[in-house]
Amino acid sequence: MSLISENLGHITQQIEQACVKCKRDPQSVRLLAVSKKKPTNAISEAFDAGQTLFGESYVQEFTQKAEEISLPLEWHFIGGLQSNKVKYLRGKTALIHSVDRYSLAKEISHQWAKIGETAHILLQFNLGQEATKSGADESEALSLAEKVCSLPNLRVCGLMTLPPYCADPEDVRPYFKRLRQLSEQLTAASLPNLVMEELSMGMSHDFAIAIEEGATLVRVGTAIFGARA
Ligand SMILES: *Cc1c(COP(=O)(O)O)cnc(C)c1O
Repeated sequence: MSLISENLGHITQQIEQACVKCKRDPQSVRLLAVSKKKPTNAISEAFDAGQTLFGESYVQEFTQKAEEISLPLEWHFIGGLQSNKVKYLRGKTALIHSVDRYSLAKEISHQWAKIGETAHILLQFNLGQEATKSGADESEALSLAEKVCSLPNLRVCGLMTLPPYCADPEDVRPYFKRLRQLSEQLTAASLPNLVMEELSMGMSHDFAIAIEEGATLVRVGTAIFGARA
């Protein structure tokens, strides 16, 4: 068995254990394999081991890989995104996790309209208010959601956060809780084109805690593919 498939098996077990602990159905949590900076053969290897969801962070790297790989896998885009690069993602991503401003949402709507399809997106929040990270401020959650949800060819499927790194994953728990609260507040606003199905939160070292707080998509890179160069 390859190391990647061993890692995937181990993570799947940890996801199941976390679900048992908080009495959730393991089917309600999906594993997104974050393959940024990893070669396409690592992606094929993970695919052969049964992994079908992959996340990329850089537009050019993503488009190259998507062209090279013809496997029936599902791509998610999770990185910071400039509006002028949205056209390269058009029609190729099942979910864009990193929408943090109206101008970006508007461009996604515009590009997906060209192909007559609906883009599925998440709203990303910078809950730690870190200058180095993208994500909207939680104080503007409702006004941003209202504007984004008014756009055509767009469906907001949930929320995403990339919290501050904490050596002890327990210290990240309040951020995960906060994202879930925000999702409940936005759900209560009954906005059009908003189906609050996904909470994208939790990475290699804290996904178990994120699951306890309601994550439906955990984004795991290092624990599957090893450290990035
Ligand atoms: C790189 C990245 C991950 C994966 O992080 P690991 O610690 O390697 O699991 C998750 N989410 C985002 C947004 C990332 O950029």
